[in-house]
Amino acid sequence: MTECLFCKIANKEIPSSAVYEDDEIFAFKDITPQAPVHILIIPKNHIKSTEEIDDSNSAIAGKIISVAAGIARGMNLDGYRLVFNCNEIAGQTVPHLHCHLLSGRAMHWPPG
Ligand code: AMP
Ligand code: ZN
Repeated sequence: MTECLFCKIANKEIPSSAVYEDDEIFAFKDITPQAPVHILIIPKNHIKSTEEIDDSNSAIAGKIISVAAGIARGMNLDGYRLVFNCNEIAGQTVPHLHCHLLSGRAMHWPPG
């Protein structure tokens, strides 16, 4: 039995507000939204972060981005930001790879 929060969400042991699902990917609304649209896209298989992405598993990273873009198209978003936080110093709090899809307000650069 996994102790990983996002594995539990992908397995539906913990409820979430699902947005998209297929064999490999699960997407759900962030519980503490940082923008009017804030969706997390995760692989169902546990990968800790982009630190563990290499040539052997990069297809899943591409699929995460493709799913995020598809969700954005489906919602007619006129602009959005995709963010992968990697490790605590960069703001990662859940050690299961996830892509933040943020939209619905103006965003600025550089990020804090
Ligand atoms: P990060 O800080 O990049 O690791 O992002 C983790 C995100 O997961 C944060 O934006 C949290 O608000 C979100 N989060 C934590 N627990 C849950 C949950 N049970 N359901 C949905 N989102 C969550
Ligand atoms: Zn996990």
